[in-house]
Amino acid sequence: MNNINTPMMEQYLSIKNQYKDALLFYRMGDFYELFFEDAVVASQALDIALTKRGKSNGKDIPMCGVPFHSADNYLPKLIKKGFNVAVCEQTETAEEARKNLKKGPLKREVVRIISPGTLTEDNLLERKTNNFLGAISDDNGSVSVAWVDVSTGCFKSRNIVEHNISNRKQLLANFLLRMNFSELLISEDFDLELIVQEWHSILKKQPSSLFHYSSCLDQILSYYSIVSLEGIGNFSEGEIKSAAVLISYLKLTQCGKIPILSMIQTETQNNFLEIDYFTQKSLEIIKNLSGDSEGSLISCLDETKTACGARLLKQRVIEPFYKIEQIQDRYDLTNWILNNDLNIMQYQKDFENIPDLERSLSRISLSRSGPRDLLLMSKGLLIVKGIYENLISYNQAKQIPSLLNFIINNMEIDYILFSNIKKAFKSDVPIIVKEGNFIKEGYNKELDLLRNFRNNELKYLANLQKKYSELTSVSSLKIKHNRMLGYHIEVRALHDKSLRNIDLFIHRQTTAQTSRFTTVELNNVENEILNSFDKAMKIELDIFNNFAAQIIKKGKEILNIALSISELDISFMVANQSKTRNYICPNILEEKSLEIIGGRHPVVEQQMRLSHKSFIFNDCILNQKDLIWLITGPNMAGKSTYLRQNALIVIMAQAGLFVPAQKAKIGIFDKIFSRVGASDDLAKGQSTFMIEMIETSLILNTATDKSLVVLDEIGRGTSTYDGLAIAWSVLEYLHEKIKSRTLFSTHYHELTRLKENLENLSCHKMSVKEWDNSIIFMHKILDGEADKSYGIHVAKLAGLPPAVTQKATKLLSDLQTQNHEKFHIKMDESVTSESKDNGDFFEEFDKVNVDDISARQSLDFLYKLKSLRNT
Ligand code: ADP
Repeated sequence: MNNINTPMMEQYLSIKNQYKDALLFYRMGDFYELFFEDAVVASQALDIALTKRGKSNGKDIPMCGVPFHSADNYLPKLIKKGFNVAVCEQTETAEEARKNLKKGPLKREVVRIISPGTLTEDNLLERKTNNFLGAISDDNGSVSVAWVDVSTGCFKSRNIVEHNISNRKQLLANFLLRMNFSELLISEDFDLELIVQEWHSILKKQPSSLFHYSSCLDQILSYYSIVSLEGIGNFSEGEIKSAAVLISYLKLTQCGKIPILSMIQTETQNNFLEIDYFTQKSLEIIKNLSGDSEGSLISCLDETKTACGARLLKQRVIEPFYKIEQIQDRYDLTNWILNNDLNIMQYQKDFENIPDLERSLSRISLSRSGPRDLLLMSKGLLIVKGIYENLISYNQAKQIPSLLNFIINNMEIDYILFSNIKKAFKSDVPIIVKEGNFIKEGYNKELDLLRNFRNNELKYLANLQKKYSELTSVSSLKIKHNRMLGYHIEVRALHDKSLRNIDLFIHRQTTAQTSRFTTVELNNVENEILNSFDKAMKIELDIFNNFAAQIIKKGKEILNIALSISELDISFMVANQSKTRNYICPNILEEKSLEIIGGRHPVVEQQMRLSHKSFIFNDCILNQKDLIWLITGPNMAGKSTYLRQNALIVIMAQAGLFVPAQKAKIGIFDKIFSRVGASDDLAKGQSTFMIEMIETSLILNTATDKSLVVLDEIGRGTSTYDGLAIAWSVLEYLHEKIKSRTLFSTHYHELTRLKENLENLSCHKMSVKEWDNSIIFMHKILDGEADKSYGIHVAKLAGLPPAVTQKATKLLSDLQTQNHEKFHIKMDESVTSESKDNGDFFEEFDKVNVDDISARQSLDFLYKLKSLRNT
């Protein structure tokens, strides 16, 4: 008996069978319910009760459930933990089933699979961050990655060609870390060795048959309705495979509905300034060293007003340009805004009122939008129209920069649809369509008639109530409405008889307090009201769907507008920063130089400004002759700040932004490598020194003569002589073989001797001043080398016990006179005289009877005690 499942459970099992890799949220009335293993897993992940419902094969069926209306609270938890959730809805109503004389459970279908990489809901996404779904394929010596942000339509690919397998793995690891994918698709036969362990938890294996080249190409061509990819980009086979696998996955997870994606764009390695992950981390571009966004470059720079502008800015500082024209275009636009004295505040106010066009469009294209999305988008696009009209007036007057021309062209669309939507919709509309009542009066005649009719019917009901009350002489008789009975007549129980005696009234229900009746007339009115309601709803729905379909048709144009607005948003921000922060337009050119005059660290400067301190400007001048700056100076003198600030200025300049300096001439860079501050623990379990060497090896293997290398204290993780030897040879290699522009800080003063042999190396120091047995950090870079390290001064500042710093001073002077035997003086020997002093004092102190000594004697004791404490 027990091994027969109920029809509902049969239905559940057959659906679950098709979605084995996802947790099945099975809709039952007002709940989503999960059964069997799904229930066990989800109840643990969500920390909710695990119960049981019925039996299967004689065993209890585990079950857990979440209310339908609060599913939004539970879904993010599961998605964040990496689960996919298949949402299974009832796709017919009880009434439809009755009409079709159908028996058994209501029809149910999976309407969507939610996975970490395919989210579109604002509450599940970060406003200023892209949510990338990636796919990787591996083809003889190259790996290809394609990625898409379903919520914004961004679709790109990249080929990483590197024949040395360990370098390839390292490059891929860097790229994955930098992109911070939410979900990564790979073929089931992909070599997992290529992907560092850290990313294994987000991998989703796909059938290898999906990676078949020619069907992949067809898939892409048919998605874009084009016949060839020629002219769109130079895609490798691997990129095509990865991109097509993404499209298949989207079709599967969105149950056939495909979001609007921009034309796939291939990123050739030479299009961008390459910033590997360690550099991104060491320069604190997106997050600070502790992993928070506060104090990062992006949090300091980002004063954009739109969500898509913020996302573009973030992408720009992770992947700045490499082509001079692209950078110059951005400078030209910002300068044009400044030179023409555009009202920056007004434009920024307008940007602020533009909603997230990309994400709204994505929801509309996946049928997940409501009246509010449409109305907000329309209002936003009408603001865009105003901006367009303003800008175009300049276009007629004089020559405008080419980027502005591109922006204006993108904005040149027919805006009538958006005015129509604004005309049709009420000013306050619901989020979901089913709530109805969002179309304005006067927009649709039939709708108005139905609404009028409904209002009249409601008046008619009031008359009916009056009529029945007079007929029955029950003045308290009311016509009411509830979900169970619909419209009905209600009287207090004591009047029950008065109505039962009249044939007109049909009894429906009696409770302790009340009796409820209906009449044929009342039923008819109710049906008409309901009919008019259904008809009105259908008209509103049709209007909504019609507008949504027109928006989808304009999808590509809207994505282009979003891009234009993002570019404008960033340019106006930069123009503003040139005024409020004194950032200047760099001079970018094709030569091997880097000349920064009066440079500042953007983040440190901003923090110091908040505490009313001023940041000391510094220069940096690298050129063919002076390729490497070797920088010495004590800790705390400002070396790391200086190294980072120059790298950041280069990144900002190549991202098309203005920079914190008095003057900046930037000879374009292809890659930037920075190792300043703490190392990453990517290769867990390896020593700090090992990690440092892996990172250095990647730099020496991949840097070119067009790269910027910024190294801080190479070799600090091993013994002095090892460290010195390594730092020495790394410097020589950079100078002789790579010839990259390099900033190299060190505490090995011996290294400064290299300037005699390496003609393109010069020595610089962070200056300090000694004053009254202590030091003052000047934070100023000067020519020459530091004469001593001042480490002990810094140790004193940090509050190390005097016994330790005294001993260290002695050791240091011995070391400096190369008197190695003296190193063996034990710490206790050096402090014995002091302890002896202490001992004598306390012996005397113990003997004193406090009541017998004079005030003068006690004061002497106090002075003595204080002097011992200070030594
Ligand atoms: P180092 O790397 O030499 O140990 P840091 O770069 O960490 O030194 O700087 C030490 C401190 O000096 C930091 O608190 C920083 O804010 C401050 N500092 C560094 N450079 C400057 C500067 N140019 N102007 C003002 N303060 C600075």
